[in-house]
Amino acid sequence: MNFKISKKSNISNARLGFLETSHGVIETPCLVPVATQATVKTLTSQEVEETNSKILIANTFHLHLRPGEKIVAKAGGIHGFMNWKKPLMTDSGGFQVFSLGFGQDLNIGKIINQKQRMGSDADLRRQIMLGEQPKKIKIMQDGVYFRSPIDGRQLFIGPKESIKIQESLGADIIFAFDECTAPLANHQYTKNSLIKTHQWAEICLKVKKSKQALYGIVQGGRYKDLREESAKFIGALDFDGFGIGGEFGNDKKIISEMLRWVIAKLPEKKPRHLLGIGKLEDLENIIKAGVDTFDCTIPTHYARRGIAFTSEGKLNLKQAKFLKKREPLDTGCVCNVCLNYKKDYICHLLKAGEITALRLITFHNLFYFNGMVENIRERIKKGAI
Ligand SMILES: [Zn+2]
Repeated sequence: MNFKISKKSNISNARLGFLETSHGVIETPCLVPVATQATVKTLTSQEVEETNSKILIANTFHLHLRPGEKIVAKAGGIHGFMNWKKPLMTDSGGFQVFSLGFGQDLNIGKIINQKQRMGSDADLRRQIMLGEQPKKIKIMQDGVYFRSPIDGRQLFIGPKESIKIQESLGADIIFAFDECTAPLANHQYTKNSLIKTHQWAEICLKVKKSKQALYGIVQGGRYKDLREESAKFIGALDFDGFGIGGEFGNDKKIISEMLRWVIAKLPEKKPRHLLGIGKLEDLENIIKAGVDTFDCTIPTHYARRGIAFTSEGKLNLKQAKFLKKREPLDTGCVCNVCLNYKKDYICHLLKAGEITALRLITFHNLFYFNGMVENIRERIKKGAI
């Protein structure tokens, strides 16, 4: 893998670049749509390509459970399996340490807001203390014992296992195994978790045999000292790039601030990937902070709830008023959906429970998001960002 920075902004930390992989070059900053189960839900790989998506991220944990990496490897890796010819990433399974652990116990996502933290729900006001274990998984020194959400069987994933699975899956860019800490983890817990994440990062580098690019992951929760420590430690290791994981708070300022702490300590010349951005409004800020690629479930996840992103804001196409609108989702959009279908029809399909509606909105949303990022790239080129 090769990464070239072609322009740095004078007014922010934004930068333009080219990330070259064996499956092609992508221009950065770039959105990485999420293909958890080796599919962007509802679309074929050809359709995803038509939305101008350039790179996808699949999920190591889920593909390991089902169908298993052996079947994927036999098909030529994820590329062959899903017939996607462009670059691919796989995450390491570290996010599942959170989502199937404290995330599930406390029924929280990785972002909770201050109101929730201070509010009436006792679970959200408490802190996760040093030594605490989630109910359904066990986080050990050398890895994590999970229970399969499919059939309940026990499985173990540590740094070695994660790399081995990711080598079989064959993505262009893979990630080191880490513990993504919960937003409620206190300083002591987070510090202790960071020691493990750092040890695991070194093991991942040591055991990797493939030519895949390996990104280390910076954690550290919402704590400045830990974020900086992690960025320094991971940044000094021989990774091809860096993932920034874990909690980012809920407000724009906090996200930008955390990114500032971390990015200042990471090597300038290597690519940076933000793992999972939570909000559309964050997009420009994270690019201004110096992020090169970021994965995001918003366009696809919202689409399946009937919500389209447009230049007029978010539209909930389930609302009956759209039955009277004989116009495209976005009059300025030139995607196949906007050129061929109107709001009244899509609203009708949603109300009738027709899956085509979800396909149409997913297609438009991805096209729209990719267009937004392209627009930001243009503005960096012109020196406006
Ligand atoms: Zn469109």
